[in-house]
Amino acid sequence: MSLLVTKFGGSSVASLERIHNVALRLRELRQEGYQLVVIVSAMGDTTDELLKMAGQIGNEFDPREMDMLLATGEQQSAALLTLTLQSMGIAAVSLTGWQAGIMTDNAHSKASILNIAPERIQQELNKDHIVVIAGFQGLSTEGNVTTLGRGGSDTSAVALAAVLKAERCKIFTDVDGVFTADPRIVKEAKQLSQVSYEEMLEMASLGAGILQPRAAECAMLHQVELEVLNSFKRQQGTIILEGNRMEHDRNVSGIAHDLNVAKIALFDVPDQPGIAMRIFKKLAENSINVDMVIQSATRGHHNDIAFTIDRDELTRALPIVNEVVEEIGASGMSYGNNVAKVSIVGAGMQSNPGVAAAMFEALAEENINIHMIATSEIKISCVIDETEIKKAVRALHAKFELDKVK
Ligand code: ASP
Ligand code: MG
Repeated sequence: MSLLVTKFGGSSVASLERIHNVALRLRELRQEGYQLVVIVSAMGDTTDELLKMAGQIGNEFDPREMDMLLATGEQQSAALLTLTLQSMGIAAVSLTGWQAGIMTDNAHSKASILNIAPERIQQELNKDHIVVIAGFQGLSTEGNVTTLGRGGSDTSAVALAAVLKAERCKIFTDVDGVFTADPRIVKEAKQLSQVSYEEMLEMASLGAGILQPRAAECAMLHQVELEVLNSFKRQQGTIILEGNRMEHDRNVSGIAHDLNVAKIALFDVPDQPGIAMRIFKKLAENSINVDMVIQSATRGHHNDIAFTIDRDELTRALPIVNEVVEEIGASGMSYGNNVAKVSIVGAGMQSNPGVAAAMFEALAEENINIHMIATSEIKISCVIDETEIKKAVRALHAKFELDKVK
């Protein structure tokens, strides 16, 4: 019998009625002859509510106890789904992350999975049980409960699919799949039938919000075939697999955008070795992630350096940057949180030099000013004014004729 790993996100298990819908779905897959491992997220906004509750106690948290608290959300939904399955006469058992053998490092609230000992899961599968596993949690090498970072149930599911050598990992969510752009912005946006791991990884980290980026990375590393699909509908989702197995290579597969962007610029930075290191090391030491960086041409012995960070880290970053400005003798700095990032993503663009020009042309035609540009093999991103973002996404979608994509 082949094995499927399925994952149901918070919105798919948000109420008992929805949990019942999940159970029906599992019964169907069961009738198709699959062995099933099911990973669940916490019901609806449970994780946020638990965080809020802890917030009423104070704001200095013991990370160990926070993980102990947050892990309860997934245990609740795992048990409720199992009870529902049993009430329908379907043999099922729920397991916590640690019962399922998920071992992590000790980084509370953002732990990484080190290995999975699947014996217990296997035993339960041999007894013909549907095995329901609490996502987002594991046990650290020090024997403490850990959680895997927000959205971490995706990573639990992909890692389990890899270890159990599942035929496929199905991520059930509240959207139909991966789209060529956010359908709320572009009404012609099309669902993609397939995307490559690389494309998914770029789209996930560019704020498409469908999958935890770490899960896409884990799937790529272990070659787990993924499908993202709607738990409320009976239709095919988007399949995510190795690029060279795809039939049609497109230049551009999707337009991603991200509003969680702030820009910082440093002026008249001395043009000397080690300066960039001093700026970015300071930020790294404070766990502030820098995304795009540009350095202007040198004027005399100075140049300007600008970079972007997550907007929600701006208040934390500003004092650090001001300190660096003093230290290195730059003339000053400025920042803006009214910018956004628009990106085109596509595995096919590596071999097509016209793509960048077409992107800039589309933005120019709409009179949109570009503040910064960054490229990788399969992505080109531009920072623009936030107010222009919808216009930019629509213009790029039209330019690359993504309404015709299959
Ligand atoms: N419940 C956790 C969260 O909301 C994990 C997950 O949903 O994947 O982030
Ligand atoms: Mg969630």
